[in-house]
Amino acid sequence: MGVARIPLIAGNWKMNLDHLQSIAFVQKLAWALKDAKHAFGDVEVAVFPPFTDLRSVQTLIAADKLELAHGAQDVSMHDSGAYTGEISGAFLSALACRYVIIGHSERRQYHHEDDEIVAKKTVAALRHGVTPVVCVGETAEDLETHGPSAVPMAQLRVVLDALEADADIVVAYEPVWAIGSGQAATPEQAQQVCAALRTTIAEVLSEDAAARTRIIYGGSVKSSNIAGFMNQKDVDGALVGGASLDVDEFAAIARFR
Ligand code: PGA
Repeated sequence: MGVARIPLIAGNWKMNLDHLQSIAFVQKLAWALKDAKHAFGDVEVAVFPPFTDLRSVQTLIAADKLELAHGAQDVSMHDSGAYTGEISGAFLSALACRYVIIGHSERRQYHHEDDEIVAKKTVAALRHGVTPVVCVGETAEDLETHGPSAVPMAQLRVVLDALEADADIVVAYEPVWAIGSGQAATPEQAQQVCAALRTTIAEVLSEDAAARTRIIYGGSVKSSNIAGFMNQKDVDGALVGGASLDVDEFAAIARFR
């Protein structure tokens, strides 16, 4: 039994690297990952540059037939129109973005994105054939008050309630206290919450959706701790922030075995 979920190692560059730097970075990364797939088994590696880099990254990946995916860090819930500063899922789709990060804790915190907005953005991405990487996670206070799984499960439930049963999404469990802090969750903590999130998917969508949906962990992932996460049954990859900005370190994370 069991559905094979191809591990996803995703690099969230946040507001780092302009379009010229992104080209140099992706070239070096492709070189560092050469043969990784053959040597280390199936793994999908994706980069998430700023919007202004996407065209350059897309062109490079296509021209050199690189085994890399690219995605955006946010998307509008609207498709077009008078929304100054917003980027439509249609535009991301036109740039061959396979993924888009939605509901990152920095968007929730600095741009006041709540679960309803995250749900609408998720639906918008799916409408345009871009796979959402839906981020959920508890703050240190949430952890203290509600325990480890309650808040991420509640956040995910709002999104799942807006989806069709066959929707294809990735879920990223990112405890807010672990992001950029150098203090990652333990593999056991990550497993506990990722398993709870999988149960939520089974309850709201279906057993089948739960079995095939990739749930990845994010928060101070580095090459020295990735193996512990990847050994967990319900952790299917990592969303990497700081460590994704160092080519060798990110490549080492992608060779987690
Ligand atoms: P970090 O960030 O790896 O720097 O902790 C993760 C994220 O914010 O996605």
